[in-house]
Amino acid sequence: MRALLAGARRKERSLLDLTRKLVQAESPSDAKSAVDACAALAASHLKQLGGRVKLHRLEHHGNALEARFGPRASSEAAQPILLLGHLDTVWPLGTLQSMPCRVRSGRLSGPGTLDMKAGVAMACAALELLMEARLLHREIILLLNGDEEIGSPASRPITENLARTCSAVYVLEPAQGLAYKTARKGIGDWHIVVNGIAAHAGVDFEKGANALLELARVIEAVSGWTDLKRGLTVSVGVAAGGTKSNVVPARAQADIDVRIPRLTDGPRIARKFAALRAADPRCTLDVTGQINRPPMERSRGTVRLFRKAHLLARELGFELNEASTGGGSDGNFTAALGIPTLDGMGAVGEGAHASHESVFIEHLALRTALLAAMLIG
Ligand SMILES: [Zn+2]
Repeated sequence: MRALLAGARRKERSLLDLTRKLVQAESPSDAKSAVDACAALAASHLKQLGGRVKLHRLEHHGNALEARFGPRASSEAAQPILLLGHLDTVWPLGTLQSMPCRVRSGRLSGPGTLDMKAGVAMACAALELLMEARLLHREIILLLNGDEEIGSPASRPITENLARTCSAVYVLEPAQGLAYKTARKGIGDWHIVVNGIAAHAGVDFEKGANALLELARVIEAVSGWTDLKRGLTVSVGVAAGGTKSNVVPARAQADIDVRIPRLTDGPRIARKFAALRAADPRCTLDVTGQINRPPMERSRGTVRLFRKAHLLARELGFELNEASTGGGSDGNFTAALGIPTLDGMGAVGEGAHASHESVFIEHLALRTALLAAMLIG
């Protein structure tokens, strides 16, 4: 462990350089060519490291990059481990002008540093470290996609197919504070449109069926499904409707965010949405939506991985805790397939998706050494 840590410390400079290079290649999820350019940069680095690189070309989203290291998996050898990351960010092109990538008072700040280009660079450094020390005796697959921040619509099947061939999945998302993540909520999005009847608010009031009033009732109803004790939340994030104050509105709509702690909550909440009816019989409801990311439950396999990480962290001289979060990642998909998944194995920092996004440099080498140890332990 000492040798791994010393190696990681020696690599800290090059790790920071790689992170900076990746951050300079701005890569918002909705700009395919920019995400592809960032993936090309990562691909050339991974090839230099000796990775067997494959590009999954996607038509409308950033390409997904797969790189394999170590001996090829065979029937006798241990199954590979999947290292899972993403290269897209939530930051639009040009953000670097107002939010430059720089090192200052122990932090590397900039768009996408924490979420998660530093995590990607850590994985590269960990793999390099293990190969140099000739410690890589099983196959490791690194998958970097380009559409995670918008729910991984195109990369999800790639992630799932690779995960099925692996014994464990390590997700390079940032740590939760200092903790690894052993549980994440599942996420659903619903959209409700209320169709009422328009009328003059003064002349024909009783002929109108007020879609906004109906929507207000719907909002009350679905918000009441929140069960904080169980960690299930239903949050109406957007509501709109109507045209003029003197017109009884014929149309109103709302966007609803749903978070579920357990897989079995999905069908239950979907049935509730499907059973919604308008209180005013002259109004109709169009209800669409689904659970997009299943929850990552704190499974036995995940706990086993965490315990291992906890022991290895102790050998490295620090106490590692576990945490759960309401936010989703690609780890939700792999965990739902029943594959032990440990998340939050990337950088430590603060301000993901916020203007103060930054990585705490002091933790980089330690966490990289821990990641490397987890790949061979
Ligand atoms: Zn992320």
